[in-house]
Amino acid sequence: MDLDYPAEAEEFRLEIRAWLNEHLPEGWDEADHSMNDEERESFNIEWPKKLFSGGWICASWPTEYGGKGLSTMQAVVLNEEFARVGAPMRGDFFGDTLVGPTILQWGSEEQKKEFLPGILRGQIRWCQGFSEPEAGSDLAALQCKAELDGDEWVINGQKVWTTQAQDADYVFLLARTDPDVSKHAGISYLLVPMDQEGVEIRPIEQVDGSGEFNEVFFSNARCPKDNVVGGLNNGWKVAMTTLGFERGTSATTSYRRFETELNAIIDIAKENGKIDDPIIRQRLAVAHTKVKLMQINGLRSLTARLNKTRDPGVAALGATNKMFWSEYHRDVMELYLDVAGMPGQILDGYFDADSKDPNHRRGKANYPVNGLQAAFFFSRSETIWGGTAEIQRNIVGERVLGLPKEPKPPK
Ligand SMILES: Cc1cc2nc3c(=O)[nH]c(=O)nc-3n(C[C@H](O)[C@H](O)[C@H](O)COP(=O)(O)OP(=O)(O)OC[C@H]3O[C@@H](n4cnc5c(N)ncnc54)[C@H](O)[C@@H]3O)c2cc1C
Repeated sequence: MDLDYPAEAEEFRLEIRAWLNEHLPEGWDEADHSMNDEERESFNIEWPKKLFSGGWICASWPTEYGGKGLSTMQAVVLNEEFARVGAPMRGDFFGDTLVGPTILQWGSEEQKKEFLPGILRGQIRWCQGFSEPEAGSDLAALQCKAELDGDEWVINGQKVWTTQAQDADYVFLLARTDPDVSKHAGISYLLVPMDQEGVEIRPIEQVDGSGEFNEVFFSNARCPKDNVVGGLNNGWKVAMTTLGFERGTSATTSYRRFETELNAIIDIAKENGKIDDPIIRQRLAVAHTKVKLMQINGLRSLTARLNKTRDPGVAALGATNKMFWSEYHRDVMELYLDVAGMPGQILDGYFDADSKDPNHRRGKANYPVNGLQAAFFFSRSETIWGGTAEIQRNIVGERVLGLPKEPKPPK
């Protein structure tokens, strides 16, 4: 695509810039801007409220459900402007990135009216109830079941790795609603309230003392009969839509966070002289090339979308995207540790035992990593959540390249 955006897009860009200038804390865009504990805490509380009142969460959703109905181009510009100044964009990841768009695509009119405005206003928080102890990569092996009792579904079973279940008002849950058909066919996608007697949440404590993952047990938990999204026993297709949103990233802006991070690593290499090491230089050059590939592929996807053209290369990018960025990120964070050397292992991040920062919600986290160290740790999980890199390779092999399906073990 032509890298000059159309005039309307540039006008909209100015509107977003003006809003950001007015609402971000003073001095936000200055290189040495930092916040003390109190300022950070107040920012974490106030910023989502400003986003919601500005209407910038899920702004491309239709106006009838409370969105701003932004065009694709406007949504791209919005993302770019937030990314340019590093302004957080998200309300609740599970609501506005996963279940919200899924309800938009598959939900009934009643479900859209009931749930979407609450997501846009940040009033309903969600968690994702897909994985089970014996159903991760092989998600269709799930055993959690739902049976109809009058006007309600009764749910029994266990989920695991349920991120933020402790804060969620609802879970979007996959449950077996027909045990007599082949495993993909008998699954439904249910919206289940979390605050009820039949739901027990047990945190899985991590090495840093925090516990954002949980095991969730459903013992005769209930939800209304009409809370099935996309039709009874059609949950597999609906879940694939949700996973598509989870694996995708914003086409033209996702590379930016990687670019900022890589620049920070290059700065460290310049400061400590590692930049003169030919192997390090080579690895930095590879990383730079991959970030540029992400940028160019993002623009390619956007062009196909704006021109409504079917580009088989873009379809393939959809399948390779998650594998590419997550493996890139894992590798580049290892490069960070090699560049930083021993000082990279000194914990010098922010920590306040009494903090109300949501990341320290359980008041237990005592592992004060800085931004790059945190990114290193989190990068280890990125090739796993939302479908592992190996599973993504299977998908590319079978669905993009048309290779024979992997053999199944004999029953
Ligand atoms: C940070 C994080 C957050 C998460 N949050 C949630 C959440 O909120 N809700 C939720 O439902 N789940 C969540 N998960 C779970 C996640 O979806 C699963 O971990 C993931 O699908 C893999 O399943 P598993 O852990 O059971 O691994 P397994 O499926 O047991 O896989 C183990 C290993 O075997 C490999 N493997 C398995 N099958 C194949 C195959 N056919 N071919 C080649 N290799 C294979 C895998 O790639 C992996 O390396 C989260 C996970 C993480 C790491």
